[in-house]
Amino acid sequence: NRIPILAGNWKMNKTASESEKFFEEVAEKLDVDEVEAVVCPPFTSLQAAKSLLSNSSIKLGAQNVHFEEKGAYTGEISPDMLKDLGVEYVIVGHSERRAMFGESDEIVNKKVLAVINSKMKPILCVGETLEEKEDNKTEEVCKTQVEEGLKGLTKAQLENVVIAYEPVWAIGTGKSATKEDANETIAFIRNTVKEFASNDVAQQIRIQYGGSVKPENISDYMAMSDIDGALVGGASLKVPSFVDIVKF
Ligand code: 13P
Repeated sequence: NRIPILAGNWKMNKTASESEKFFEEVAEKLDVDEVEAVVCPPFTSLQAAKSLLSNSSIKLGAQNVHFEEKGAYTGEISPDMLKDLGVEYVIVGHSERRAMFGESDEIVNKKVLAVINSKMKPILCVGETLEEKEDNKTEEVCKTQVEEGLKGLTKAQLENVVIAYEPVWAIGTGKSATKEDANETIAFIRNTVKEFASNDVAQQIRIQYGGSVKPENISDYMAMSDIDGALVGGASLKVPSFVDIVKF
């Protein structure tokens, strides 16, 4: 009974004008009811998304947020600014932000809490690097990132969280995890949630796979017992491949 969630993370791609074309076309081609389809464009395209997707079933996500409500934080975007633009989901703790912008588990946790407090849903990204994988630390890394990232949330709040398991070595490399390996780690993450919260929460919470997902491999992942969706980078940038993925 977990509703599949297919989300596109555009990263730093498309100007607002380029985004408009995508939104117009996708709104025409994609009408979903049994799954959730989410686009996460850059902040500068959210306004265009709000107006062009308002009559569609496609939901809006953001790629990052600051944890404070307002104030002297030059260059930052608050949760309420996103909420006001119709944003429902916010990606938090993407590996690119952890690696390139110094986001610690503590910062990630503050952002998760801020998103929840503004009545949006965080997509918490976790996953091991190649080095950690080779050191057999995949489970340890995922466990820590999940437990630290979700600290302080009530059980009811945890049910609104989406976790994305994105092995860093699979991101943008074309080397996707096998469906068996992805399912095994996602089942491990679900068990971590069970121990940390409850079995009910673990059965409710949706966990996506991310890392070189394409129209050609999406149905393999979606057929696995514990994989509830995907967080897609490169293949979400073109309307036809995004539509194919959502329609897996
Ligand atoms: P790719 O789908 O381009 O590998 O990116 C995955 C990702 O990082 C989504 O957040």
